[in-house]
Amino acid sequence: MANNKTCILCHKTYKHCGHCKSESAFEPSWKSAWDTEECMNIFQILANYNNGAMTASEAKKELIKYDLKDKDSYSPKMKKAAEEIMAAEIPADPYDDPKVKNMKTIEVKPEDLENKSERQPKKQEFIAKRSMKKSNK
Ligand SMILES: [Zn+2]
Repeated sequence: MANNKTCILCHKTYKHCGHCKSESAFEPSWKSAWDTEECMNIFQILANYNNGAMTASEAKKELIKYDLKDKDSYSPKMKKAAEEIMAAEIPADPYDDPKVKNMKTIEVKPEDLENKSERQPKKQEFIAKRSMKKSNK
């Protein structure tokens, strides 16, 4: 069987027959539109971006997992979407902030609470002043 299908994303041709049970039984249904699973995933991200279901930065988080080496063979609309997405900034994840990470992982040991609490020095100071007053009398 000659290549009879063209990937709707990268436009590569590939073999797929939706009618031959012997072949299609081993082929996933996405094979009727895309040559590879990667093309399907990329296509869906770009389509989500184009129809407004994803912002460019949301789409970029997904799209950076894929190799866009075939970008030049995408349709102009899809290529434009891929370029716009890749040009987008991914907003910093607050949980990636080292300060926040440290806050989450900070360990409070019981001895820290007993010996290093802020109240302790004040209390000692107060006692010291009182004992000084007493000794002055
Ligand atoms: Zn493809």
